[in-house]
Amino acid sequence: MKPIEFQCHVKSFKKLTPTVFETAFETHQPLPFDAGQFISVVIPGAGPNGRDLRRAYSIASPPEAKEIELCVKIVEDGPGTQYLYRLRPGDHARAIAPYGSFVFEDKPGRNVCFVATGTGIAPFRSMALSRKFQENPPALGYCLLGVRTEDEILYADTFGAMPRMKFVAAVSQAGPNWNGFRGRVTDYLKGVGSDFPWLETEYYLCGHGGMINEVKALLLEKGVGKESVHQEIYYK
Ligand SMILES: Cc1cc2nc3c(=O)[nH]c(=O)nc-3n(C[C@H](O)[C@H](O)[C@H](O)COP(=O)(O)OP(=O)(O)OC[C@H]3O[C@@H](n4cnc5c(N)ncnc54)[C@H](O)[C@@H]3O)c2cc1C
Repeated sequence: MKPIEFQCHVKSFKKLTPTVFETAFETHQPLPFDAGQFISVVIPGAGPNGRDLRRAYSIASPPEAKEIELCVKIVEDGPGTQYLYRLRPGDHARAIAPYGSFVFEDKPGRNVCFVATGTGIAPFRSMALSRKFQENPPALGYCLLGVRTEDEILYADTFGAMPRMKFVAAVSQAGPNWNGFRGRVTDYLKGVGSDFPWLETEYYLCGHGGMINEVKALLLEKGVGKESVHQEIYYK
């Protein structure tokens, strides 16, 4: 669908972790999109000479949901995140959407492996909760999330409750009480057993560019074809 400019208003705001918040918007007209796509939020007057700026955010809610949910990492002095962080229920905003080709493709017989750093998990929440995914779930699903500390883990309940979905939080600087995996998502993937279905899986990678490049290199080493690797880089 061709992107359209639309008005929306905030329905809810909540902190998900100490540095990530979720804002739900109701759009003033229907917004059809595919799970995995993003919206471009207009940041009024924040650009040079008071011009508007735009920032991209993956839609974290499924296409069938009434509200559009965004999952945003707070960036200190970042105009986009500071603007969104200040919005409260009833406030209005402008955005343009849908954008992007990082969408879930239903491939019968294939497993799915989502790999994210931080808020890079947002499009995977949309994909996994979408009707398309729920009606034809992959035989096996993996959701690997890389964060620095355990209090930054996102959507563990959503992915943890899904049948045939293995959710792993890879925590690189975990505290002494963390019983889960310590290290980065790349370390986790390097250590999986020989029964990991490397060649029978579609890979979706999202978030930090460094992680995406490292995971891609590992996948190619394992013989995974480029056509099975899908990516969305948030920042380098
Ligand atoms: C297609 C696409 C989808 C995106 N979806 C999301 C999303 O769903 N949630 C989200 O939080 N961000 C997302 N981003 C990043 C987002 O567009 C902004 O770059 C980010 O919010 C920072 O904007 P800012 O104006 O606050 O700060 P800026 O001043 O523009 O950015 C400052 C720096 O913040 C760092 N940064 C940017 N994004 C992140 C991040 N997610 N986590 C940690 N550090 C970051 C980078 O080093 C960047 O150079 C997405 C980016 C793209 C390209």
